[in-house]
Amino acid sequence: MYNETLLMMPGPVPMPESIRNAMTRQAINHRSQEFGDCYADIVRILKPIFGTKNDMLVLSGSGTAGLEAAIGSFAKGKKIVSLANGKFGERFSQIAAIYGESLMIESEWGHPLKLEELKENLENGAEVVTLVHNETSAAILNPAREIGKLARKYDAIFILDAITSIGGDLVETDKWEADVAIVGSQKCLAAPAGLAAVSVSQRAWDRLSEARPFYLDLKKAKKLADNKPMETPTTPAVPLFLALREACKLIEVEGIENRIARHHKMSAAVRAAGVAWGLVPVPQTDELHKASNTVTGFFYPTGIEDSQIRGFCKKMNIEFAGGQDRFRGKIFRIGNMGIIDAPEILVTVAAVQMAFKKIGYKLEDDGLAAAIEILSS
Ligand SMILES: *Cc1c(COP(=O)(O)O)cnc(C)c1O
Repeated sequence: MYNETLLMMPGPVPMPESIRNAMTRQAINHRSQEFGDCYADIVRILKPIFGTKNDMLVLSGSGTAGLEAAIGSFAKGKKIVSLANGKFGERFSQIAAIYGESLMIESEWGHPLKLEELKENLENGAEVVTLVHNETSAAILNPAREIGKLARKYDAIFILDAITSIGGDLVETDKWEADVAIVGSQKCLAAPAGLAAVSVSQRAWDRLSEARPFYLDLKKAKKLADNKPMETPTTPAVPLFLALREACKLIEVEGIENRIARHHKMSAAVRAAGVAWGLVPVPQTDELHKASNTVTGFFYPTGIEDSQIRGFCKKMNIEFAGGQDRFRGKIFRIGNMGIIDAPEILVTVAAVQMAFKKIGYKLEDDGLAAAIEILSS
């Protein structure tokens, strides 16, 4: 990396050279065999990574565009229940409130979701359930399988934000009965920011909203995607499609099982470091809720300023995330999405440990040694 910043954020993430190079070419016609083949390659490779045989559409827009397309296309005017234990869960319910009758079931950030309350709302006629699988803001992994099962039992549409799990952790869209699942390009897929891929079940198509958004209409996206060669309703972000195809090919070469195992190991190393240091993890886990395998968060000890740790590392060209909204200044989050491997984890953990040492804060134990223990297993 040398003169580059090592980006250890929960998106965007560092990209291999071949992905960057895929974007730097002359423009091509988006109504052409060449573009259609690119779109088809992306869909072919992403479907098994989503764990789905459903339709898949790629939208020009960040992950949020995928969430809004899902709500706007399938939940307009309906009773929508959004489970939230972090910023992105809350944001999902804000989108829902614009299109339908929205109810948010809120937990403390990073605390388990309230499944009993969800059940009550489903009994009382909720028609759509939204869930953030990997809640990045609180580094918690939510129980998508169990919630999908509940939604299906009450015949509700289940919309899953898998934006920071697909490509880095196990997602089984069809088995978990997710009618719509969404991934963002700049997270675990390690592609540039600006695309969202969305899978849609037949159940969802059967409940298509009458009045849908113009730009984010999934029905229209499907109509054009069914053309041969594949197309999009309006001019897509062609360079990003080319880069995403390259990113998908690299995932195919690595193998998704290997990639998931790598993400699990890298996050386990960061968790081990934080625990050895004596820091408090952000997520409150139980038998259903786990610590995220793609981003790891810890609370700062009392009296420690964000700038003392994150600021120090940034000066060394290592950048990771702080807290958002109510967690601002209180936590730090180290991402291990995409191509992050042992060297990047080691240097980041070492830098954090050095930052604490620099300010004379006495950590409980050697976090770097704990990380090495995991990485060398
Ligand atoms: C990053 C993220 C989003 C939003 O994605 P954008 O690409 O910024 O629109 C949504 N949900 C989760 C869980 C995320 O981490």
